[in-house]
Amino acid sequence: MKAYKIIKSNIHRKGLCASRDIKKDERIIEYVGKKITHKKADEDTKYGYKITYLFTLNKKYVLDGDFKFNTARLINHSCNPNCEAIEGEKSEIWITSKKNIKKNEELTYDYGFSYDCNYKDYICKCRSKNCVGYIVREGSRWRIKKSANI
Ligand SMILES: [Zn+2]
Repeated sequence: MKAYKIIKSNIHRKGLCASRDIKKDERIIEYVGKKITHKKADEDTKYGYKITYLFTLNKKYVLDGDFKFNTARLINHSCNPNCEAIEGEKSEIWITSKKNIKKNEELTYDYGFSYDCNYKDYICKCRSKNCVGYIVREGSRWRIKKSANI
């Protein structure tokens, strides 16, 4: 049985939530798409708009997840996420629980966007206590706090 279902999200449009209790470290859903090279992603301007769905797999490839069949693309970003994206044995990507998750809790992970890529275009509405207001990877959020003088 699938551990997730599609919901109307409080964070952003649609999202996924747990359809049952999920234990820490469970693989919940695979993030599927089309493997393309960084070179192609950089050169082909259409990918410039798809940053939300691009996953860096390694030095050579990124995964373009902007496809209807990729249900995992609906998962929202949160500044206090309950999931993380983990690479599997065949460099596939699994959205995996990083803590125990209760049934009906929305599933979220850190999109990992860099501070340098126009972070102001990506507003975060996750409502976590530690929300910085923008979708930026955890390691770079101090830079936003600093610039906003929080
Ligand atoms: Zn947030």
